[in-house]
Amino acid sequence: MSASSYIGRFAPTPSGPLHFGSLVTALASWLDARAAQGRWYVRIEDIDPPREQPGAADHILRTLEGFGLTWDGPVLYQHNRGEAYQAALDQLLAQHDAFACSCSRKTLAGHSVYPGYCHHGPQHPEQPLAIRLKVDPSVWVCWQDRLQGYQRHCLGHYGDVVIRRKDKLWAYQLAVVVDDAAQGITDIVRGLDLLVSTPWQQWLQHGLQQPQPRYAHLPLVLAPNGQKLSKQNHAPAIDPQQAFPLLWQALNMLGQPLPDQTPCHIEDLLSYAVDHWDPTPLVGLQRLSGGDASSST
Ligand code: GLU
Repeated sequence: MSASSYIGRFAPTPSGPLHFGSLVTALASWLDARAAQGRWYVRIEDIDPPREQPGAADHILRTLEGFGLTWDGPVLYQHNRGEAYQAALDQLLAQHDAFACSCSRKTLAGHSVYPGYCHHGPQHPEQPLAIRLKVDPSVWVCWQDRLQGYQRHCLGHYGDVVIRRKDKLWAYQLAVVVDDAAQGITDIVRGLDLLVSTPWQQWLQHGLQQPQPRYAHLPLVLAPNGQKLSKQNHAPAIDPQQAFPLLWQALNMLGQPLPDQTPCHIEDLLSYAVDHWDPTPLVGLQRLSGGDASSST
């Protein structure tokens, strides 16, 4: 791939402000794109209003700007993308790669994989219907992850995932695949917690005849209690006033070299980081530690 054909993205869900874990993801994805002289897009994944926090999308964008992580082109908002998701859903239904399902949580209790009750039509068509992606349980989805190595996942262990919910909301798996293709994304750099979604996403790409991006699943930043730093675990919001020490800490955690002389501006720190970006120290890692912010200045 020529350097300039690289297109990366950061795709936050606006369920809360950015925390340090999301900064590390955004920074790694931004550095990977900028070092490849590629484009870097921001997409707000706002398809689940009950999970969203009012004002969080704007807050995330202002925070990225405050940390110098500038993006190209307009921000894509998933709440505007219903027609594209519907077209993809219609295609999958027409190809018999998706099916309507009336199963309730209760019906499915105890099954780790969808048992196929509605494969030949919904068992209770009068009830609200979800749409599930039909996977071929004999297929192994394989890819060479840039950080996590060769991956080989049997779709039989994944099962038929919901792509449109009973409440008519679009599910993440469908929306992300449709938008990655629409935006021409060539490189996905995101947290390791999303690796389990990649087999479904690749199966969807196959069903929708879309190209497959390259993947780099980043090790996760853990909170001191050993849990993933996340909005659910109430990770604190990051403050653009602290952009310099937090970027320094994030670069350190990502195993990147740091300048001998502390630059005065975050732009200079970021430009040094782009020039020296090398994801090799992250290969094979599942979690990140270290990077003490107090050592920065
Ligand atoms: N919206 C997802 C999140 O905030 C990320 C989606 C992706 O990178 O594929 O966790």
